[in-house]
Amino acid sequence: MICPDAPVLLEIRDLQAAVDDQPILKGVNLTIRAGEIHAVMGRNGSGKSTLSKVLAGHPAYTVTGGSVHYRGNDLLDLAPEQRARIGLFLGFQYPVEIPGVSNLEFLRVATNARRSEGGLEELDTFAFEDLVRERLEVVKMDPAFLERSVNEGFSGGEKKRNEILQMALLEPLVAILDETDSGLDIDALRIVAGGVNQLASPENATLLITHYQRLLDLITPDYVHVMAAGRILRSGGRELALELERTGYDWVDQELERFAAEGQQTGRAPLEVG
Ligand code: ADP
Ligand code: MG
Repeated sequence: MICPDAPVLLEIRDLQAAVDDQPILKGVNLTIRAGEIHAVMGRNGSGKSTLSKVLAGHPAYTVTGGSVHYRGNDLLDLAPEQRARIGLFLGFQYPVEIPGVSNLEFLRVATNARRSEGGLEELDTFAFEDLVRERLEVVKMDPAFLERSVNEGFSGGEKKRNEILQMALLEPLVAILDETDSGLDIDALRIVAGGVNQLASPENATLLITHYQRLLDLITPDYVHVMAAGRILRSGGRELALELERTGYDWVDQELERFAAEGQQTGRAPLEVG
């Protein structure tokens, strides 16, 4: 839902970031309030995953300018694990496999770290098993996956479901889901989208990163942002995603070329919407 008066959870201002001295993000502006679902779309290589990794604190990326505030506090000051503890969640485009680490134990340690930050008591093995069995329902996952190593030998769809299971346990305030739809068949896509919808509430916000409209048929975004060349080129409501579905990304290239020809900055603040 669109919530102009709800508290701001994430405020990204003129964010610039580089990898190996190569600038990738060139001035990203985005404000996310409680209760909102935002989608960031864009061609491959436009900087979507970089944005999500910079927000999560991935060490390969250096912030070279701008700011990010999470519930009013400087996010960029915090270590990645601290960001996770206070309620920022990143679902990876390519979830990592961690051989030798039990999925159940991994989920328990992560859940307890988040709970203790929130002043809740830590759950022992038995209490956690009850909780995890309940949350497995969100993603309709077989409990057998808990006994395996984290993501090891999971199919693409199973990895994405495991990401949503993590999210269901961690109860983040801001969930960033990077291409959660990629590699999913339609049944898995429905389950994952259903999980995301079920977890969305007036207290939290979701940032969906996706290349395709198809995920947005199942999860209705309040705002859609189109990213190109490390900036948000245009923002709008869900109709912008439908327009992209019709027209493809060609107009994005034309707009970029026009800006380049005019020698203008494309990093202007996104249109005010809502
Ligand atoms: P998207 O997710 O929109 O497809 P990415 O953020 O993955 O885009 O990539 C944006 C650009 O940054 C690409 O040109 C990509 O090659 C480059 N890039 C991203 N991460 C790295 C990295 N770790 N090392 C080198 N180049 C990178
Ligand atoms: Mg990506």
